[in-house]
Amino acid sequence: MLPYGRQTITDEDVDAVAASLRSDWLTTGPEVAAFEADLAGWTDGVPVATVSNGTAALHVAYAAAQVGPGDEVVTTPMTFVATASMASILGATVVFADVEEDTANLDPEAARAAVTSRTKVIAGVDYAGHPIEYDELRKVADDAGALLLADAAHAIGSTYRGRPVGSLADLTTFSFFPTKNLTTAEGGGVAALDPEVMKRARRFSKIGMVREPEDLRRPDEGGWFYEVPAFGVNYRLPDVLCTLGRSQLRRLGDFKARRTELVARYNEFLADVPGLRLPVQREYVDPAWHLYALRVLDGRRREVYDKLRAEGIGVQVNYIPVYWHPVFEDMGYRRGMCPKAEQFYSEELSLPLFPTLTYDEQDRVIEALRQILS
Ligand SMILES: *Cc1c(COP(=O)(O)O)cnc(C)c1O
Repeated sequence: MLPYGRQTITDEDVDAVAASLRSDWLTTGPEVAAFEADLAGWTDGVPVATVSNGTAALHVAYAAAQVGPGDEVVTTPMTFVATASMASILGATVVFADVEEDTANLDPEAARAAVTSRTKVIAGVDYAGHPIEYDELRKVADDAGALLLADAAHAIGSTYRGRPVGSLADLTTFSFFPTKNLTTAEGGGVAALDPEVMKRARRFSKIGMVREPEDLRRPDEGGWFYEVPAFGVNYRLPDVLCTLGRSQLRRLGDFKARRTELVARYNEFLADVPGLRLPVQREYVDPAWHLYALRVLDGRRREVYDKLRAEGIGVQVNYIPVYWHPVFEDMGYRRGMCPKAEQFYSEELSLPLFPTLTYDEQDRVIEALRQILS
């Protein structure tokens, strides 16, 4: 089965990991800070803390924003469930706001309408790698006295008005799952503009442990001493995986260029296939495309999905509206809340897109679609 996404691993990556395995540090060693410094090279210098995966990154980001019971988080339903569930798990109430009809990104006006005095965070998702409307959402967040969070699991390497994703929101989260723009097998990151927020993020992801003498309640106990002033979790990303991430990051520019090329080719060769709607791009963004999110019109998405799968083409649907999941339905969320997101879901189909996809493989996908729809 031709997958919809997959990792690109070279001998360089394998050698880097092998060297790491032979080193003194499998985890909590120097490769962690080195990978974090390399990542900051992609966020305009905004610090990034590595964590175990993208879901963990969201958990950490909401904890660092001090989201808890009584707070509200405004977010999009057109995302992976973790964007919402990691706020729910901390006791917050998730408020879903609808998406823009064309990009499927959180609509700033819908977000503004969803804000209340309890709104603590507004969380957008750079769907498919296309940046959200950062400037507009920043205004909404500032007016609400809330933090802006970007779930950039799809979008490391993307830019918005010349500025990189990771430098734009108060908190940005990344995922390094194999299908994403770069991989550490499992892995993620949290970028934060405010050093205090970053400090809370690092502490929460490292069991809540504090070692800085100025922050200890009893600073004179001895060199071994640490304290846990608030609970945390262990979401460390080990050195072995940070080494893989550093090696991958050197090729992120190449991955982006190849994804751009493949997206342009899909756009060109699918333009005259009937019954499709192709992805859009605002003129002021430069996406590192994670997904090629096509829309199949006339109620034929399921048929096209089944037929492509039967031909060994591993298309995917991204995403089931988050509040359709029983855990949200059981809390009282109802279908129909965000009609644009639901319409998008009913038509969406993600075609294979990854750096090592060949033109021949891509042509096979295009021809199969043409056969089904013409
Ligand atoms: C992949 C993804 C996540 C979760 O990342 P994991 O590393 O798989 O935990 C969160 N949000 C979005 C939008 C994603 O695509």
